[in-house]
Amino acid sequence: MHYDAAQRGAYRALAKLRQEGVIGAVGAGMNHWQILQRFAEDADFDCFLLAGRYTLLDRSAADSFLPLCVQKSISVIAGGVYNSGILADPRDGAKFDYDDAPVGLVAQALRLDSVCKAHGVPLKAAAIQFPFTHPAVAAVLTGARSEAELRRESSRCCKRRSRRRSGTRCATRIDGATREIFARAQGKMMLQPPLRTESALSNYSEFDYIVVGAGSAGCVLANRLTEQADVSVLLLEAGPPDSSVLIHMPSAFAYPLQSHTYNWAYETEPEPHMDGRRVSCPRGRVIGGSSSINGMVYIRGHAKDYDGWAAARGLEAWSYAHCLPYFKRAETRLEGRRRLPRRRAVRSTSPPAK
Ligand SMILES: Cc1cc2nc3c(=O)[nH]c(=O)nc-3n(C[C@H](O)[C@H](O)[C@H](O)COP(=O)(O)OP(=O)(O)OC[C@H]3O[C@@H](n4cnc5c(N)ncnc54)[C@H](O)[C@@H]3O)c2cc1C
Repeated sequence: MHYDAAQRGAYRALAKLRQEGVIGAVGAGMNHWQILQRFAEDADFDCFLLAGRYTLLDRSAADSFLPLCVQKSISVIAGGVYNSGILADPRDGAKFDYDDAPVGLVAQALRLDSVCKAHGVPLKAAAIQFPFTHPAVAAVLTGARSEAELRRESSRCCKRRSRRRSGTRCATRIDGATREIFARAQGKMMLQPPLRTESALSNYSEFDYIVVGAGSAGCVLANRLTEQADVSVLLLEAGPPDSSVLIHMPSAFAYPLQSHTYNWAYETEPEPHMDGRRVSCPRGRVIGGSSSINGMVYIRGHAKDYDGWAAARGLEAWSYAHCLPYFKRAETRLEGRRRLPRRRAVRSTSPPAK
């Protein structure tokens, strides 16, 4: 409702003022990149203020929103770079998004802090510099209580200037140590979004294993391999991270499916028995692969197929009877085991899905 009102009312008025030369730019600001993305798709904006969604802890804006801003020459001002305080002072009870931070996020922030300390860089400096790693980010906005605090904050950031469509933008040089922190903070198993390929890879010269494709199989394999101590794994993925809410919200599954950001969007060759039509053939192009865009339905192949494969030499372990316990182990359901009717006991009897 507010979106339509803003689009039809405020935006139109502002665009007219811009056309008349009364104002130089039109922008919008909030901490939801999804709404800003709609604005970017539907109208001609010059800049956006995005709070808290492109930080050391929350990179959800990087999947589709920031690339769209690059494509449409929209300058992004990154606000909330400390995510309500957790990245300024990581500890139990720290705030994330104005609320008590979940334990997992506190642990992640403490890990970032210890990597920073090892390099003699304050976590706050890394938090301020991080958004500039993306070419869409023109400036970082931080709040300050006093002039002294403002001076301290600005000393954590070195700026250079470059031209953009609607004026001048600031970016920062990311020093070598900070680059390494960003790379190392991702841990022993590096997930490689394309944007940071060069900088992150330069810190590692050798891996024990390289797994190509962080899809269903690739992720499981890399995870299993890294269970062994001292084994390093490079997991390469062509697509972006899977942090978008549209991937994690089951009812929104049509969005990633329709996007070319998360879907290779293959098509078959023209089908001679279908009047030459090409049939859409989606495959996931994102961390998690096709399982990040799929229907989350448990599907087992026909028992006879498995038994047929098991008849081949060396594939004995693929018989249906052998695979069945693994299917059951993988299948969980919200209702849990108790409500399962007896006659369907061939299905999972595992505890509720987590
Ligand atoms: C729309 C859809 C709905 C589905 N629904 C269901 C369902 O409800 N239930 C079910 O059981 N199954 C479903 N499936 C099937 C299931 O998701 C797939 O069979 C399974 O995810 C395939 O796993 P995979 O590891 O073989 O490949 P994928 O999970 O597709 O992984 C391959 C990965 O490799 C990456 N990659 C490819 N080339 C390169 C390269 N050169 N460099 C780096 N990375 C690369 C891709 O980007 C991708 O992330 C569905 C699939 C789709 C597409």
